[in-house]
Amino acid sequence: MTGRRMMRAALLEACGQPLRIVDDVEIDAPRPGEALVRITHSGVCHTDLTIIEGPSPFALPVVMGHEAAGEIVAFGGPSDGFALGDRVVVSIRAPCDDCFFCKRDQPVLCEKSAVRPGEGEVRLWRGGQPVSRGLNLGAFAEYVLVPLRGMVRVPDAVSMAEAAVCGCAMQTAMGSVVNVADCDQTTTACVIGLGGVGLAIVMALKTVGARQVTGIDPVEVRRATAQGLGANLTLAADDQGKLAKALKATDGRGFDTVFDCVASSATSAEALTLARPGGEVVLIGVTSTPQAPGGSTMELVMRHKRLTGSFLGNAHTGRDIPIIFEAIRAGTLPVARLITHTLPLERINDALDLMRRGEGVRTILTL
Ligand SMILES: [Zn+2]
Ligand SMILES: [Zn+2]
Repeated sequence: MTGRRMMRAALLEACGQPLRIVDDVEIDAPRPGEALVRITHSGVCHTDLTIIEGPSPFALPVVMGHEAAGEIVAFGGPSDGFALGDRVVVSIRAPCDDCFFCKRDQPVLCEKSAVRPGEGEVRLWRGGQPVSRGLNLGAFAEYVLVPLRGMVRVPDAVSMAEAAVCGCAMQTAMGSVVNVADCDQTTTACVIGLGGVGLAIVMALKTVGARQVTGIDPVEVRRATAQGLGANLTLAADDQGKLAKALKATDGRGFDTVFDCVASSATSAEALTLARPGGEVVLIGVTSTPQAPGGSTMELVMRHKRLTGSFLGNAHTGRDIPIIFEAIRAGTLPVARLITHTLPLERINDALDLMRRGEGVRTILTL
């Protein structure tokens, strides 16, 4: 195929090993309905780390990275209102608005844009051999191919680093709070796991005015960050009395909504205990191997609780990201506070180490 471009990328060649920066990954030219975007800012999400540690659902080698922003450098056909040089955030979903799921307001399941791991078409090459794109994007690289419906123009009031965080963490958080759980000012909520997505959920809950927000995490600095973002109560994950203390914050009734951003058997069991009768548990985290949800089915049935999965907060890229951008511009969503480190792409392994040690919240890689 002609028109391929050579680029720099961070390659995962073997799970558990450091990523390797190479300069000779080739990316296909964009097709009609696609743009080629030169990445300038790429966030490191815990999902990337989970896959890097292994096992990987994608064939190796793979370029991970799925939370990014950059500039449009080429179109494969009509530009659909975009222009060369536009600053855009890219998303892993580009809902078609026309398929079975899109018509049922489940854009993250869009039949035309939701690609299962391993089923994505090869668009990257190295020495003539295929290279996978993690989550069908591969943004730890100079360039990505994005469907036009998977991009949103970044307004001047939003920095490219902030825009990148909106691609995954903030889109997931706001969508989980508003689209999935329907939280508002009457809501009491507990967030288990205060990493990038968990803290973004705390922020989103405060934005909708939730009246009681409790956060649980093992890392003190993350709990402190949650407090700074307005959480009413934070508890250490290893505090044996944490469930009783959390429930006390709701007069013993339990929370309307519990967001489990770890989504392990252990935390989902805790989440089910913390949800009030008639309340909801929303599972968000991605684990390397599937885990059975914990807790009792009778707790769900007899106390009329709901257990829901949330992928990307059921966000519709073109509809929801502009709303998030407007909240950033208005000063009601301080996304910049999630960004604790900025490193060049070459130091991606240091960024992964920061996440392994639980230091900081979001590292943005610059290119
Ligand atoms: Zn992510
Ligand atoms: Zn669709």
